[in-house]
Amino acid sequence: MSPLRQLDYLPDGLLTAKPDKLHSILPEPTLIHLYGKKTSPLFISVMLHGNEPTGLLAVQALLQKYQQQELPRSITLFLGNTLAAAQGLRRLHKQPDFNRIWPGTEYPESAETLMTTEIVEIMRNRNVFASVDVHNNTGLNPHYACINNLEHPFQQLASLFGRLIVYFIRPVGVQSGAFAKICPAVTLECGRPGQQYGVEHAFEFLDGCLHLTELPDHPVPAHDIDLFHTVAQVTMAENISYSFGRTDVNLQLNKDLEKLNFTEIPAGTSLGKVNYIRTLPVIAKDELGNIVTDTFFSIENGQLFTKRPTMPSMLTLDERVIHQDCLCYLMERIPS
Ligand SMILES: [Zn+2]
Repeated sequence: MSPLRQLDYLPDGLLTAKPDKLHSILPEPTLIHLYGKKTSPLFISVMLHGNEPTGLLAVQALLQKYQQQELPRSITLFLGNTLAAAQGLRRLHKQPDFNRIWPGTEYPESAETLMTTEIVEIMRNRNVFASVDVHNNTGLNPHYACINNLEHPFQQLASLFGRLIVYFIRPVGVQSGAFAKICPAVTLECGRPGQQYGVEHAFEFLDGCLHLTELPDHPVPAHDIDLFHTVAQVTMAENISYSFGRTDVNLQLNKDLEKLNFTEIPAGTSLGKVNYIRTLPVIAKDELGNIVTDTFFSIENGQLFTKRPTMPSMLTLDERVIHQDCLCYLMERIPS
């Protein structure tokens, strides 16, 4: 049975609840339908990752603004992993990642995948206008928007957040990838949790979306955007030990690695020191899932080097995030 709960009102306390107290108001993942002047709803998902509160805080500010006035457009709000939020974690150990469970996922069917299939069907039937999924990340990254389809309305929506846009089709099973099949959809990366600027930026974007009448189907002017596509996702190879601090590991990652995020780096950039092994300690997979590690990495003189010019993102010093998600993504510029 799907654990999804649906409401058509805001439960008491929701607009002021701290992220870790949300679970006492919404014990399950919950869809909340709120009615506005333009009827096709803006879909907003927050807290798919329990330790990424910026989306929740932005939505709380947005809904507080419209407490005494009609919403310019209907909103359907999805509050995802409130259980993990209660513990300040991305997900609980026994849970799947809530941003890998959406239609298109490679995960086996579960209560969670059935839930997301149901959500997409509900929103299709409600003639969803556009979809926004709000995240934080742990590394030192600028704010940017991700899209999974290059058509003009997607780029138009993303460009309302800022000039930096990342196009990707992998990982699969992400919220914006599923919604891209039925409406313009975007994932917002709002920097680290706990930064007020991230909340304000997401709030302004969402408020702007509520006032849109349509998303134009013509190109965003080339000088207004920097568009990159993800060419590889880099994870740790199996049974490889790694650390930023310890030396008795297979891969000693450089301590200033996250400074490389969103920097175009040349071939021959070292990411760390390799010990005790001769095989590459990382695995790079391209957008189709092919292993392309040898295209991007080599070991020379005990160092892990990049082999071609690239631009990393999502490099983080958080070893737990590296274990649960990935080391980084590699990107290349899409010329306009
Ligand atoms: Zn996230």
